[in-house]
Amino acid sequence: MTRFARRRGAAFFFLVSVGLVAAAANTPKPRRHAAPTYEVYAIRYATIPGFRVSGLIAGADTSRRLDIAMMVWLLKGSDGRRLLVDAGFHRDDFVQRWHPTPFATPSEAVARAGVKSEDITDVIISHVHWDHLDGIDLFPKARLWIQREEFDYYLDSAGTVKNRAIDAGDAKLLAQAAREGRVMLVDGDAKEIIPGITVYTGGKHTFASQFATVHTASGTVVVASDNMYLYENLARHVPIAQTLDSASNLRAQARMVTLASDPRLIVPGHDPDVFIRFPTPGNGVARIQ
Ligand SMILES: [Zn+2]
Repeated sequence: MTRFARRRGAAFFFLVSVGLVAAAANTPKPRRHAAPTYEVYAIRYATIPGFRVSGLIAGADTSRRLDIAMMVWLLKGSDGRRLLVDAGFHRDDFVQRWHPTPFATPSEAVARAGVKSEDITDVIISHVHWDHLDGIDLFPKARLWIQREEFDYYLDSAGTVKNRAIDAGDAKLLAQAAREGRVMLVDGDAKEIIPGITVYTGGKHTFASQFATVHTASGTVVVASDNMYLYENLARHVPIAQTLDSASNLRAQARMVTLASDPRLIVPGHDPDVFIRFPTPGNGVARIQ
């Protein structure tokens, strides 16, 4: 070996050593509680035709109409957990009053995504309105996560209605679930209720409406529910039409942008465009990714 070759060999060894140190520095430290990864699906169980857009977007032209999507959101965990955000509606008086066309029960719609209703482990209730709460009895084994302030504002433990924004029958259902020990009351903002799933308040669609962030392989997805009715709210920086506090609603929408890995991963509560932006797997099921 010539002196030159020896020097070159030493230089090579040096570079390999630096490379190994750099590789070691880049190795992520194992997380003590690695959160499971979720797949997020918007599932359309019904459509309400010709809904007034001015009921969704503050100040919208009163002549505008939209066939709105009635959705629940399925979260499929890599650990086998199967959650929903919201439970939809199915009782006949609502169907008669609103004439949804087409209509399937939320549990029938969830079956299209390959999940049986009895396998739903948890339902995060974003707020107490009939079209998000009424379906809780379709998922009899699920724990129900709702903000404590939302529960206490709208009903008591006997199921008595304290504010008419909650349907009387739905209040009875929720109180019954609470007596069965299935209701988990969440105390406020930014609570990671389950590893990988965090709920936030401030949307002010109702007294203590909440939205959720979900850890997925595509990054953080925000399931806004009615705290952001349509993509148009976000695009035009317009509050939802039904809110107790417009400024708070706008702040919550701005916060969703900071929480989501990409603004396109913020899922609105009633926008039919969800199924155009995320066309697969189809048949009223949209994987958000
Ligand atoms: Zn609502």
